[in-house]
Amino acid sequence: MLNPLRIQNSLTGKKELFEPINAPFVGMYVCGPTVYSDVHLGNVRTFVSFDVIYRYLMHLGYKVRYVRNITDVGHLIDDADEGEDKIGKKAKLENLEPMEIVQKYTEDFHRVMDQFNALPPSIEPTATGHILEQIEMVETLLENGLAYESNGSIYFNVKEYQKNHHYGKLSGRKIEELISNTRELDGQDEKSDNVDFALWKKASDGHIMRWPSPWGMGFPGWHLECTVMGTKYLGKTFDIHGGGMDLKFPHHECELAQSVGAHEQDPVKYWIHTNMLTVNGQKMSKSLGNSFLPRQLFTGDHDLLDRAYSPMTVKFFMLQSHYASTLDFSNDALQAAQKGYKKLMNGLRIIKNIEYTTEKGVEINEKIAGQINQLCDNCYRAMNDDFNTALTIGHLFNLLKKINSIPTQNLKLAEIGEETFNRMKATFCSFITDVLGLKEENNLNSEGLLEVLISFYKKAKEAKDYEKVDEIRNQLKEQGVVLKDMKTGIDWAYEE
Ligand code: AMP
Ligand code: ZN
Repeated sequence: MLNPLRIQNSLTGKKELFEPINAPFVGMYVCGPTVYSDVHLGNVRTFVSFDVIYRYLMHLGYKVRYVRNITDVGHLIDDADEGEDKIGKKAKLENLEPMEIVQKYTEDFHRVMDQFNALPPSIEPTATGHILEQIEMVETLLENGLAYESNGSIYFNVKEYQKNHHYGKLSGRKIEELISNTRELDGQDEKSDNVDFALWKKASDGHIMRWPSPWGMGFPGWHLECTVMGTKYLGKTFDIHGGGMDLKFPHHECELAQSVGAHEQDPVKYWIHTNMLTVNGQKMSKSLGNSFLPRQLFTGDHDLLDRAYSPMTVKFFMLQSHYASTLDFSNDALQAAQKGYKKLMNGLRIIKNIEYTTEKGVEINEKIAGQINQLCDNCYRAMNDDFNTALTIGHLFNLLKKINSIPTQNLKLAEIGEETFNRMKATFCSFITDVLGLKEENNLNSEGLLEVLISFYKKAKEAKDYEKVDEIRNQLKEQGVVLKDMKTGIDWAYEE
């Protein structure tokens, strides 16, 4: 019996059986990037993790509506309630319209996601596209007595909320500690209490991103957009809400309070938080100055990089750890990942080209067939255990051993039978390409050039022009491709 899918729920701290509210439909909301700069590799880790979750749910047959927003207003410097808007600040610095900044970095984000072969979400709403809905929610919270106006800004009243609800239930923070840890009100502050957070901020004179509201010109607070867009596209309660661990507090705690405060119901059944990509044990972050951009990895142009790494190598490196563990950047691990990725892709090429054939006199060996079926089950077991890609990859390597022994005849197809062979082929191929989202990364092949070169190679061999044969071999080797003379003809593989 296969284990059903379980998800580590940050809300309860437990691994819970996944039972969608309205199966087979699944609603999933992931906090998207703030588009004021290029995404760094840490951001990519989080989005790749959710891409795999999205892919696996679809692989299991769920109809997933995946909403991932673009934060294009309201995210202030230092994630605080004071200070400049990250996008507004960049626009001023570069002397551009804020929407030019938004356009530029949204396109960059899409390009990077494409390079990592992450699927686009079903809906990608923007915060600025939902100002009216955000104003409506502020009005609801005011009506419900959970918000107050102060000098043209509106704040969420945490202590009032706390009377009937639990602020801190997601992050585990204690309100008493939050109160004592935050600085004293200096008398200038608009908030009644420091734990309160902004729902709507009055635009000061220099603030360029502003909209009319019942409280004057202003802009929405950062946490409000996700509550509003999640509700609009997925309903008042939906299945999965995710983001990086650093969003748990205050962003998601505030989202939760806003939803409960406005609708009197918990917004999310399963909260998923991905862990951080670190550099020498420290969170990769732009402000710490230890981040690198995907393109720096692809060119090797960074002090910390020994060499360049391809997108699929980097993706494979990320998937070799579970999303809930921290992952420390290392050149050695990336080099090992490159080898591993190529091995798997070579296995994929082998199995894709094999069709089942029977062989006279060869009987099914139940033991070997059983082992292979077990390995296929293990891939599902691992993914069903809170999307454990690290374990899944281990099982795929065990399947790979079997696959690699087919061309050498150490494993005969007739020994495992057609059903098991088809299952092995389907599992191996679909886990690598559909679930993990790994793809061939070979410019030569995609251009059809490899086929042309192989035909020249064949002709040179037939003509016994060994100088040419060696030349073609060597040049392909430089491109990371090795030619293999097989009984069945000439094939190629990635150099491992
Ligand atoms: P931001 O653009 O800063 O809003 O971040 C986008 C996403 O990347 C959020 O879900 C963050 O939690 C996540 N994130 C930021 N830094 C890292 C990191 N070093 N490792 C993994 N995820 C990160
Ligand atoms: Zn969010």
